Amino acid sequence: MKDTSAAVSQISLLKQKLQTARTALAELDEDRNAKLQTLLQFIGNLSLACKGQNLELDNKLAKLRHNLNTFERIDDAMLDLIELERLLKSQYNHVSTQLEDNRNSLTKLVRQIQRVDSAPEKQKKEIAYFKKELNKPFHTVWEFIPKVEQLIGFYETVLQNKIGPESKLKVLPKHTQMAHELAQMISEIEFRKDQREQVLAIKSLLTEGLSLDGLLEAYQNILSLMLDNIAREKSASQEFLFALNDALSAVREVVSDSFNQTQRSHQLKTQLNNEINTRVDTVGEVIVDTHDIHSLKMQVTEHLASIRAVLARKEALEQREQAILRKSMGQMQKELNELSNEATSYKEKLFEQQKINLLDNLTQLPNRTALEERMEQEFRNYQRHKQPLWVAVADIDHFKSINDNFGHTTGDKALQVIAMALKNSLRDSEFIARYGGEEFVMLIPDVNAADTAQLLNRVREKVKSIPFMFKNQRITVTVSIGAAQILDSELIQETFERADAALYRAKHQSRDRVIIDA
Ligand code: GH3
Ligand code: MG
Ligand code: MG
Repeated sequence: MKDTSAAVSQISLLKQKLQTARTALAELDEDRNAKLQTLLQFIGNLSLACKGQNLELDNKLAKLRHNLNTFERIDDAMLDLIELERLLKSQYNHVSTQLEDNRNSLTKLVRQIQRVDSAPEKQKKEIAYFKKELNKPFHTVWEFIPKVEQLIGFYETVLQNKIGPESKLKVLPKHTQMAHELAQMISEIEFRKDQREQVLAIKSLLTEGLSLDGLLEAYQNILSLMLDNIAREKSASQEFLFALNDALSAVREVVSDSFNQTQRSHQLKTQLNNEINTRVDTVGEVIVDTHDIHSLKMQVTEHLASIRAVLARKEALEQREQAILRKSMGQMQKELNELSNEATSYKEKLFEQQKINLLDNLTQLPNRTALEERMEQEFRNYQRHKQPLWVAVADIDHFKSINDNFGHTTGDKALQVIAMALKNSLRDSEFIARYGGEEFVMLIPDVNAADTAQLLNRVREKVKSIPFMFKNQRITVTVSIGAAQILDSELIQETFERADAALYRAKHQSRDRVIIDA
């Protein structure tokens, strides 16, 4: 019985131990599961961090993350983990080789940049240091990216040093505008005949394939042409002034010579006159004092002879004086002739210059200055005679599109042809000038309103009928015209304003028409 109860207590002890062991095991299990959960979470996060390196790896990692949520036991993930480990290893090798390749490429690029001599000294040093640093291998992509950035910086500086800021090279809209304005200015300036070819070359530099260099060159060339003209004009006036000065000083010399000569002769003549008077007095005295007729005769004869001698000297003196005077006069005449020739040639030059200054270079029509003069003249006539006077302003329609489609040179030629057509459709008493750009002004005297409208429509039709061929295309060019008759109470400039406003209306009423301001 004793044995049995001993055995029972033994068993209950064992049961107790077993229970304790079971509890301990359950606790261990729980602890292990908690740790495993943390580990799985960590693996999940790590796999997310590795994402983006390689597609296959990404797929496997995604699968692992999904399975980790459902795995009861880590052993079940074993196969996936082994596969992943292999992939990770190969990815690591791939990245290492790639980093090494990149490092080598960077070194090559650095060598190239070192060949550029123009880099500043400071930068050369920085580049040398950079190259030395490149000898150390990269461990991660993050080491590589800043290096690339640094190298790009070096290239930028070197490039900027070599070619300057990029904006300097580009033709911006404002440059095109400047070129256009310069081209227009050139058309309004009068150049000499021998300069025209150069001016045309400058114009084409400005209009065909404009470059900044071309623009600068054009400015430079135009300036030097203008300076040359100014210098010539100056030296022509200077030459004339020098010649005038020479001539005047020659005349002064001649005059002062003859003045001195005259003074000397005057003294001599006074002396001779005195001598003659004394001799005549002496003769008188002799006649009074001498009673002997023979000796009287002798003395008078003697005195008369000396008087004759003095008179002869006087005559000789006078003749010499006249000769000198003639010579002086001759010399003076010669100088004056030369001076007058000089003045004539200078006047001719001035006249030529004035003529050139009043003509438009491109169309050879009177220019704006000439127009202003003629307007004043016509206005004065109007004030005196009160005959009708019309001002008409013509502007070519859509002319810009001719330039845009066929080039500025073609535009210039079209302007010349149109200018000729306008000129030829007017009478001699009527006046036309190129006002600027593609605008012309006509002054029409002594014509009534109906006839003016007819005349201007004829002018308009004439331009329209010019058979222009551009790039094998038949193009019709039209003009719009506005006109106004001078009123009793107004200045001619006011008439011009009204004509211009009428032109504006013609432009707004679909162009190719004449509008008379009523
Ligand atoms: P609209 O019918 O309104 O008058 O149109 P448009 O294009 O004629 O008028 P806009 O005034 O806008 O342009 C005038 C153009 O004439 C601009 C310029 O290119 C051109 N132009 C002005 N002077 C000259 C020149 O001497 N030669 C050339 N080729 N073109 C010129
Ligand atoms: Mg126009
Ligand atoms: Mg215009």
